[in-house]
Amino acid sequence: MSSVGKIDVGAVLGAGRELDLHQAIPLPDFGSFSFPAPAEVALAARRVGRSLELEGTIDTAADGACARCLDDVRLPIHLEVSENIELDGERADPLGESNVLVGEQLDLFDLVRQLIDSALPIVLLCNEECQGLCPACGKKRDGTCTCPQSDPE
Ligand SMILES: [Zn+2]
Ligand SMILES: [Zn+2]
Repeated sequence: MSSVGKIDVGAVLGAGRELDLHQAIPLPDFGSFSFPAPAEVALAARRVGRSLELEGTIDTAADGACARCLDDVRLPIHLEVSENIELDGERADPLGESNVLVGEQLDLFDLVRQLIDSALPIVLLCNEECQGLCPACGKKRDGTCTCPQSDPE
């Protein structure tokens, strides 16, 4: 049984063939984010010198909660990918991205997960202008709250 997202890139590394990777990669929850659908991955893999080059796009969406008002937010994610993975496995930093390539096995799942994780915002907002929740009544300060507007400062 082969695990999800493991790609044999032997033909790319050996024969120098170009490989088109079109895959739907399911993503595990990350922090407070969850992913409603698999990431749509469209990458071209080719060998350039001593590295494996991956170019293309990744599209998905992340679900989270607004940091101010806690409303559900669906954040579309579109990544332009241009990655070079060194083929020198021996000196690879185990925490670096190079561990996505072991021998001729590309761990596409792990690569996509790393790229998506690093693209997620630290603070998610439903909208830049979000006023958050009213400290007095707990409703959204977007007209729902009818308390007199008093500035805490
Ligand atoms: Zn909000
Ligand atoms: Zn209020």
